Amino acid sequence: MDLTFDLVIIGGGIVGLATALEAVHKFRGRRIAILEKESTIACHQTGHNSGVIHSGIYYKPGSLKAKNCVAGAAAMVEFCRKHNIPFDICGKVVVATAESELSGLQELMRRGKANGVPGLAMIGVDRLRELEPNCAGISALHVPGTGITDYAAVARKYAQLVEAEGGQILTQCEVRGIKRSSREMVIETTRDAVQADFAINCAGLYSDRVMRLAGDAQGLQIVPFRGEYYEIVAARRKLVRNLIYPVADPRFPFLGVHFTRRITGGIEAGPNAVLALKREGYRKTDFSVKDALETATFPGFWRMAAKYWWSGAGEYYRSLNKRAFARALQKLVPDIQASDLEPAGSGVRAQALDDRGALLDDFCIVRSERMIHVCNVPSPAATASLIIGKQIIETLS
Ligand SMILES: Cc1cc2nc3c(=O)[nH]c(=O)nc-3n(C[C@H](O)[C@H](O)[C@H](O)COP(=O)(O)OP(=O)(O)OC[C@H]3O[C@@H](n4cnc5c(N)ncnc54)[C@H](O)[C@@H]3O)c2cc1C
Repeated sequence: MDLTFDLVIIGGGIVGLATALEAVHKFRGRRIAILEKESTIACHQTGHNSGVIHSGIYYKPGSLKAKNCVAGAAAMVEFCRKHNIPFDICGKVVVATAESELSGLQELMRRGKANGVPGLAMIGVDRLRELEPNCAGISALHVPGTGITDYAAVARKYAQLVEAEGGQILTQCEVRGIKRSSREMVIETTRDAVQADFAINCAGLYSDRVMRLAGDAQGLQIVPFRGEYYEIVAARRKLVRNLIYPVADPRFPFLGVHFTRRITGGIEAGPNAVLALKREGYRKTDFSVKDALETATFPGFWRMAAKYWWSGAGEYYRSLNKRAFARALQKLVPDIQASDLEPAGSGVRAQALDDRGALLDDFCIVRSERMIHVCNVPSPAATASLIIGKQIIETLS
């Protein structure tokens, strides 16, 4: 098999696949491949998320997250419609349950308007009860354009379209080494050596390691945060109609445990955000010496831990104690009980941390010789995937 390519994309998640899709359209006739270490695509973040088509209320105006989320949500809806992928623009409410949260709610309204999110409305108790009869709150932000879909199904469609345009998807092909010179680049994999003119690193939870394989920037590390879900038992699903969120703590890039209706059926509660001791560790007991040591020896980790150890401890407590998890949910829906919750799946977020201990707030994409590294694309990157892919490929044309 000829393993010489014009462009190679490392990672078959939704961002790598969206980038490949844009590339096969833009560079027709060029040899383009995706290298994926697993036996199928979309196994990690892309296949383990909440499935929300975010609207763009959370992100700082002018940031990449803000611009890409608003444009990305519109592109995602159009894509799902065109390719018959199930989606539902069901709307969501972000709910303040105490006076102290009202300023946070106003800030979300301000950001949403600045980002061009349509249809936002600050609503009172009566309207909130019409939308979500079992939800408690003193005020809420209604975001009618938020939707739900199945990102694994979206990614499979991207892959099908990439292959239909001549792109190759090589699975069980883990990148283990990268050698670059001004004349060529050789990517060592668990299959064979691959030659490429240019490569784009979309390796998600391992994007920092791939960066280091290429000898590129230190000072940034992926810290894995597991998000655990419960599912509401069938008899109690009527407690939630669509999506109910708390007012998130603006210091963290996570949204707080919330309720999400799944496009495939059922209502999930979660995800929390606990530090994972294994990058692809989906169970509480998963542990990797290499991953844990890598986190513990990164100076930024201890700086972050010193600042946020109290919130982190709370997340662990709620992770290990179902009643505490239920209590967090009862702020939003008082009738929900621990007995209404059954353990569901989990996902691990690839969140970049810098060596000063700051969690990167925005998407981060950097260019080096013959390579682009997609270093930080946590949520809402599934929503924004088509626009992220477009922007990356535009920089190459
Ligand atoms: C719990 C959770 C909830 C979320 N909810 C939402 C949501 O509701 N809406 C939203 O928009 N976003 C959400 N997100 C974020 C979204 O899922 C991610 O931003 C998105 O999936 C990132 O895609 P990716 O392609 O970068 O990463 P991934 O899907 O993780 O793909 C990376 C791929 O790279 C491969 N890889 C890694 N190393 C190598 C190597 N050395 N060689 C070859 N291949 C390699 C991996 O196997 C993997 O397939 C959520 C994420 C989580 C974890």
